[in-house]
Amino acid sequence: MCPDDSFTDVDLDTSFCLSQEDYTTEDDTEMSPQNEIKYLVFHSHLLSLFTQCRSCHLSCIGRISDKQGTYIAVTQECSHCGYKWTWRSQPFIRDTPAGNLLLSASILFSGATPAKVLHLLDHLKMACIKDRTFFDHQKFYLLPSIKATWKESQTVLLQQCIARGSPLSIGGDGRCDSPGHSAKFGSYGIVDMDSKKIIHLELVQCNQVTSSNNMEKEGLLKALNFLASKSLESKQRHPHIDHRYDVWHVSEGIKKKLGKLSKQANCDLVREWTKSITNHLYWCAANGIDGDDILKRWKSLMDHICDEHDECYHTTLSPEDRRKKWFAPGSKAHEKLYDILCSKTLLPDIKKLSSQHQTSSLEAYHSVVNHFAPKLLSFSYHGLHSRLLLAVLHFNENFGRPQARTREGKERLAIAYTKAKAGECTPKPIPVPKTYNIVYVEKLMHKAVEYCTAGEKHEHSESPPPLASAYEHPDKDTIPSFSRYKR
Ligand SMILES: [Zn+2]
Ligand SMILES: [Zn+2]
Repeated sequence: MCPDDSFTDVDLDTSFCLSQEDYTTEDDTEMSPQNEIKYLVFHSHLLSLFTQCRSCHLSCIGRISDKQGTYIAVTQECSHCGYKWTWRSQPFIRDTPAGNLLLSASILFSGATPAKVLHLLDHLKMACIKDRTFFDHQKFYLLPSIKATWKESQTVLLQQCIARGSPLSIGGDGRCDSPGHSAKFGSYGIVDMDSKKIIHLELVQCNQVTSSNNMEKEGLLKALNFLASKSLESKQRHPHIDHRYDVWHVSEGIKKKLGKLSKQANCDLVREWTKSITNHLYWCAANGIDGDDILKRWKSLMDHICDEHDECYHTTLSPEDRRKKWFAPGSKAHEKLYDILCSKTLLPDIKKLSSQHQTSSLEAYHSVVNHFAPKLLSFSYHGLHSRLLLAVLHFNENFGRPQARTREGKERLAIAYTKAKAGECTPKPIPVPKTYNIVYVEKLMHKAVEYCTAGEKHEHSESPPPLASAYEHPDKDTIPSFSRYKR
């Protein structure tokens, strides 16, 4: 767009009423505000454009006549000829400066937090919206955009499931918004194991169930009811269903126990072996022919870690493996390790690890959720729900690709070495090559602009009553650090 086209002449006595017609030129309609490039312009450089009258060309000064968040207007009134006009830095979407809405949208849709971004812009001394404005945008235009975009996406996913004609094979995963028993929200995501996409998400607030421990179960039941209401039956009566059979969850459980053990006296060798042990678990699940075979492979570990390789599946040991310190058979560390790795509760789970249905994609989903809704922050019900849906949209587009398989049909795992973990390696599923572009953000932006243009302030569907509604309300002034806003 040519910069001159954004100049609008106004008559001397016209006050600056903000109607759409005033600010929309033909060029604006060609390029939607969300797709137009924006620039960082310095105050002095901007005002240097207003040193001369456009009519008589004598010297003249421009003054900032309006400011709304990221938007400004500069008005120039000539003292020589009386010519007056106003330049506006942004197009308007109805009565909202486009840049303000798009900044809010970009913050939320990227999974960033308004506090951090607005703080950053404050450091830059950038004219900016207040957090209050962000939350208004979020409430009226952004959350509805997310929900509508997800609904459309989910409809397509469910249609694809129905079109396949076979019963669903699903995996499920629960998440609490804070560790331990004090969780306020529990969410439950359902993965269609054939397409590796999240097809449904339930969010439960703890005051909707009798205790926060029941949130996960409630979420699962609601999800299954939802799928049944869409005439989608899952393969088994309880499909997922027990997380313990999922490799990632089993591995996390083992990791925790080994972490505790390694802190005991004479058991620090356990720490060195933890990664190898969980890698071995993935290897067993990926290579075992059936439950018994998986179990046999798993048990071979107990001798291997004592440098006994008769039952092992490997041929020779790498020089790196040879340098490892072995466990002394019968030592305290070895016995305690045996108690954990071959416990009566763990072995049946290991046997049920299924390489075909392992929900390793949930690990990727978890990291996406943690990006969009960090556990350390507290969110409102709708705030968290929307961020979880963003995570689902992001996941489905980026990670929900089926896992690559070997010629024998095994899912391929790569070993990733991460610097953050001091060179420890983690098995990572190799996805099939990416074949499409990221489109969900474009859809979200389009919807946000559309809703703002329509000027309807979309209200949310019912949310559970806030937790605080069950408590007495103290006088706010008596609370030392009363925080004003919910995210
Ligand atoms: Zn003039
Ligand atoms: Zn061995």
